[in-house]
This record gives sequence, C-alpha cells and structure tokens, in this order.
Amino acid sequence: MDEFVTELLAHNAEHAEQFHTRFDDVQKSQAPHAVTVCCSDSRVLQDAMWTNTQPGRLFSCGNIGNRVVQQTDDGLVVSGDVLYPLVHTDTKTAIVVGHTGCGAVTAAYQALTTGTDEPSGIAHCLDLLTPSLADGVERLPEDLTREAAINRLVEYNVDQQIEHLRASEDVPTDVSIVGVVYDFQDRYSDQRGAVHVINIDGERDSSTLCEQHPEIADRISRLWNY
Ligand SMILES: [Zn+2]
Repeated sequence: MDEFVTELLAHNAEHAEQFHTRFDDVQKSQAPHAVTVCCSDSRVLQDAMWTNTQPGRLFSCGNIGNRVVQQTDDGLVVSGDVLYPLVHTDTKTAIVVGHTGCGAVTAAYQALTTGTDEPSGIAHCLDLLTPSLADGVERLPEDLTREAAINRLVEYNVDQQIEHLRASEDVPTDVSIVGVVYDFQDRYSDQRGAVHVINIDGERDSSTLCEQHPEIADRISRLWNY
C-alpha cells in the first residue's frame, strides 16, 4: 500500500475518534447553512478556511475552476451539486470561492488566447468556463503581466458564476450569493489563507458593498473594477 494512503488512514482513525459525538444531531438528516463551491486545487482548503469542523454546517462542492454550471440536454444549467442543498435542504446561502493563481482559469485563458490541447475530460470542464470568461479576456488592461491578468480573471470568473446562479430559475429567489477569492499568494494582503469578498448578490462595487455591509467592510476588496 502507498505509504501516503497508510498515513491518511491513520489520520482518519484520529478523525473518527475526535468526531464520535459530533454527528449526534445530524445522524438522519442535514440542514447546511450554506453551500460552498470551491476550486478543487489542493491549496484551497475548503472546510479548513472557515475552520469548519462541524458536520452538517457546510455543503461543500469542488471542481476545477469553481464552476456552478453543467451542460445538459436542456442547455447550460446550474449544476446539481450546487442546486441540491438549495432545493432540498432549505439552504439559503451560496458562496463561490475562487483563488489566486487558479490553474483552471489559467487554462481557460490559454484556451481563449493561444489554444490548448487537453484530454477531452479536461477540455469539457474548460468549455464550461471559457464562454463566461471570453468577454473578461477582451476587457483585460493591456499592460498587465500574465499572472496579474489571471488573478483579475479569477475575480471575473467568480462574478460570472454568480451571474449564472442569479439568472437560473432553479435557484430560489431568497438565496443570497456571496463571491470570495482565497489568497495564498499575497495578492490582496499578507494574510495568506484569507478570503476577500468581491461580490454579494451581483453587486461588485467595493464602496457600495462596504456601505451595504459595514460589518464586513474590512473583508471587502477586489483587484479589478471593470
Ligand atoms: Zn483553481
């Protein structure tokens, strides 16, 4: 057996010991307060970023590029992974989590600019991202480094995923939608691992957001106002 798997199993044994009583209230059902959609990048620690160790509190979805949509026979729709808690567990908050230096956003940028040659599974994921990002790539200021351009597109991608949620008739109208960027590259601040709020219910102007949500004003900032 891979030594790493053996190690993981040992950690899981510790987890099971620590969590023995934490499932008491959620043995038969769940009512998560929020659904989060994060990039599955190994550096984006989905539950740890919120110090969440409480079963039943967060419904966590992960995929490359923190996408909220999937392609079906009915066209582009909000993905079932995200929709499930909004429709079935009365979850009223959706949080889209992008991150600095996202590889999926980088690949989408590359697909839109120079083209890529990915295996079809990855190409399919990128095909779900690129239509939303094409306009953003067009609007990027010309004097940016590639890295700075990608980090602006990370914000643009979060904005676009939020628009997909807002436009969907499947998402209940009373769901509030928050967009954040997880930064471990010191692009927003020197607090590695901090999330920065960039969009709430489609509003992406930082000053307006600060006025509307003074209690979290110090957490609101964005790199790109387009
Ligand atoms: Zn990513």
